Amino acid sequence: MHATACDVKVLEHLALTDTIRLMTTSWPRRDKAPKAGQFFMLRCWPADVAPVLSRPISVHSYDAAMGTIQFLYEVRGKGTEKLAALEPGDTLSLVGPSGNGFDVESALGKRVALVGGGIGTAPLYQLAKELNAGGTKADYFCGFRDEPYGVEKFATLCGKVQLATDSGRYGFHGFVTQLLNPEEYDLVLCCGPEPMMKAVAKLCEEKGVTCIVSLERKMACGIGACLGCTCKTTTGGKCVCKEGPVFDSKEVFGA
Ligand SMILES: Cc1cc2nc3c(=O)[nH]c(=O)nc-3n(C[C@H](O)[C@H](O)[C@H](O)COP(=O)(O)OP(=O)(O)OC[C@H]3O[C@@H](n4cnc5c(N)ncnc54)[C@H](O)[C@@H]3O)c2cc1C
Repeated sequence: MHATACDVKVLEHLALTDTIRLMTTSWPRRDKAPKAGQFFMLRCWPADVAPVLSRPISVHSYDAAMGTIQFLYEVRGKGTEKLAALEPGDTLSLVGPSGNGFDVESALGKRVALVGGGIGTAPLYQLAKELNAGGTKADYFCGFRDEPYGVEKFATLCGKVQLATDSGRYGFHGFVTQLLNPEEYDLVLCCGPEPMMKAVAKLCEEKGVTCIVSLERKMACGIGACLGCTCKTTTGGKCVCKEGPVFDSKEVFGA
C-alpha cells in the first residue's frame, strides 16, 4: 500500500509525563487504514523552515470507527518540540501509513510475548489491539527508566502484564529482559532501544524462539528513495522505512 499525504486536525494533545505526549488526530482516509508497526512522517512546520526533514512516529492506536490516530511520542529535539507545541484544532501533515508493520495474521493463535522498552512501547498498543481482535491475548513485558506510561490500558487486551524499571520505583527493579522467559512463547515481538532488542533477541535465539524487532533509524524521505535509513541484513542492505521497520531479529542482528 502506498503512503498518502494528508493534512489532519489535532483533536487532543495530552502530556503524560514531562517529555511524553499522546496526540490524537483525525485520519479521514479509511481506505488507508494503518496497521500495527506502521508509521507516519509528521510535520507541522513549513517546508523552508528547519528541521528540513519530517519526523517518523509509529501508530500507537488507530480507531477506524472514529477515524482517528493516536501518536505516543517523546520530546527529544527540534522536530518533536514543534509537534509538542500543537494544540487541538491545529493542522499537521501526515505522510503514511508507511513500512511493513507486524505480521499479525501469522501470530494469531500462538503464544505471543510483546516486549517494549521506553518509547518503544508506542507501537505495541496497536499490536495488542489487533492481536486481541483476532482472539490472541499476548503477554506484555515493558521496561522504563523510571516513570512508566500507558501500561494500564494493556490489561484488558493482554494476559500477563509485567513492568520493570531501572530505578525500581515501579514494578520489578531491573531490566525487562530479566522478566522474560522466551521458552514460554512461540513468538516474541519487540520494540525498544537497540541494546534491549539485541538482548531479547539473544535470549530468544538461545531457546529457539522467533523474535521480531522494530528498528529505529534516522529517516529522510520515508519512502525508500534516499537509502538514508539503510540497515545491514543477512541478505544485504535494506531500507528501514520501506522494507522495515519490522524485521526478524536474525536477519538484522545476525548480519
Ligand atoms: C519507524 C520509526 C518509528 C518511530 N516511532 C516513534 C514513536 O512512536 N514515538 C517516538 O517518540 N519516537 C519514534 N521514533 C523516533 C522519532 O522519529 C525521533 O525521536 C524523532 O525523529 C526525533 O526528532 P527530533 O527533531 O525531536 O530530535 P532530533 O533533534 O533530530 O534529535 C534529538 C535526539 O534524538 C536522537 N534521535 C533522532 N532521531 C532518532 C531516531 N530515529 N532514532 C533514535 N534516536 C534518534 C538524536 O540522535 C538526538 O540525540 C520513530 C522512529 C522511526 C524510525
